[in-house]
Amino acid sequence: MNARAEVTCIGHLIDGQRVSGGSRLAEVFDPATGAVSTQLQLADEATVQQAIASAQAAFPAWRATHPLKRARILTRFRELLEQNAEAIARLITAEHGKVLADAHGELQRGIENVEFASYAPELLKGEHSRNVGPGIDSWSEFQPLGVVAGITPFNFPVMVPLWMWPMALACGNTFVLKPSERDPSSALFVAELALQAGLPPGVLNVINGDKEAVDTLLADPRVKAVSFVGSTPIAEHIYATGCAHGKRVQALGGAKNHAVVMPDADIPNAVNALMGAAFGSCGERCMAVPLAVAVGNETADALVAGLKAEIARMQVGPGLDPAAQMGPLVTRAHFEKVRGYVDIGVQEGAELVVDGRGLRVPGHEGGYFLGPCLFDHVRPGMRIYHEEIFGPVLGVVRAHSLQEAMDLIDAHEYGNGTAIFTRDGEAARYFSDHIQVGMVGVNVALPVPVAYHSFGGWKRSLFGDLSAYGPDAVRFYTKRKTITQRWPGNGVRESAVFSFPSHR
Ligand code: NAD
Repeated sequence: MNARAEVTCIGHLIDGQRVSGGSRLAEVFDPATGAVSTQLQLADEATVQQAIASAQAAFPAWRATHPLKRARILTRFRELLEQNAEAIARLITAEHGKVLADAHGELQRGIENVEFASYAPELLKGEHSRNVGPGIDSWSEFQPLGVVAGITPFNFPVMVPLWMWPMALACGNTFVLKPSERDPSSALFVAELALQAGLPPGVLNVINGDKEAVDTLLADPRVKAVSFVGSTPIAEHIYATGCAHGKRVQALGGAKNHAVVMPDADIPNAVNALMGAAFGSCGERCMAVPLAVAVGNETADALVAGLKAEIARMQVGPGLDPAAQMGPLVTRAHFEKVRGYVDIGVQEGAELVVDGRGLRVPGHEGGYFLGPCLFDHVRPGMRIYHEEIFGPVLGVVRAHSLQEAMDLIDAHEYGNGTAIFTRDGEAARYFSDHIQVGMVGVNVALPVPVAYHSFGGWKRSLFGDLSAYGPDAVRFYTKRKTITQRWPGNGVRESAVFSFPSHR
């Protein structure tokens, strides 16, 4: 019997129904074994247009729905996410490869975004001023945009969609989501839970696809805004194309986050924090720390020794193995790219202190496992310093001073996250005040803002003016309207006024 025959084929969620659409297929793999787990229909133009039409038809009634009713659906949806947490986490692990505890953590962060979105009735309250002129009142209100699209990356298949559509919907928009074609099942499952929670058909549609689907969304005038999270070259394309089509766009891109370790830092704690930040989720996080900048050679030597010892204790294995701390990379192509960067680092003259290239996980020989890799003496000018590797590769850079470390960070093209490890409050304050990066940790390696703050990098890590989720999302998914109102008294005759302002 052909094993392929047992592989399920998934399509799209349009108008509240699972539908087929598109003749091209993509394969989805189990990264722990390398086996094909699912086939995915890639939406063609007509399928995407069907989803947009469904979202547009659902918009007037959804816009008119009492915000509290919209919020109640999100509250029920949050309960369903909690009840189905294990199933969702397993779907994430099955296609992404991250360890189950990390998949649960991702879901938890997504749930917090749903929770924040359910406060939308409070967040949407406008601003009111009485008597701005004689008998005149003025107020601003925040109206939904219409149909909004979200395009999301593989590395947080549940959390990043939940950064977007719950708040967009809570603000009265309808949505078309295009998840990553590498691990699409969990986003689809979660969207179906939202329908179960009471979301009317058409308010949330999910289309699976690739560039063809994305470009159709970008060109269609019915789509008023696009939220994108992914790599920088694609983010730049999305931003330029979406803006050229007159849309509001926020496009979050890649990263190369540096953590500075000062000579006075608590080194064992810094080492542990860096282990999780560099190797958690196999380094496939936009807030991962692939570069540690040690200030002073003694700091660097202690850091490298500590990291080397901790790496020797690390457990790498399939994400469903409770003992595993790190799973496989997402696809064979990505595995080869990351392993290729390790080769490049060696050719460039960085010192490979720990080489994870030979790792074998018994029983999982077809999986995309790369062991943790540690480089010392990484320098600017090297590709492994500048380029986003997005794998379990940590480079130690040696600097002489805090200022030199900060100059390196500021000169880098990305500015997503950064951290400083120190016991010196003055250094920490100077660093967080001046560094040209959007999210800063002080003795916190992964300073990912909570759901009621917003998430966004600087420089080529974000194209657009508003960050993701939190208060910025309310502004991104609404447009301000300011109304000025006056009711002249009965029978009062008013003469024409030709100078401005007309009501002094
Ligand atoms: P990616 O850019 O390859 O894909 C992201 C999305 O864009 C996917 O839905 C994909 O289908 C689509 N896409 C890919 N190529 C396209 C093209 N040519 N035209 C139109 N659409 C296209 O990113 P990825 O590999 O899925 O995710 C990893 C990247 O995302 C890393 O660079 C990471 O730093 C970044 N990321 C950033 C953040 C952030 O908040 N800044 C968060 C998570 C991930």
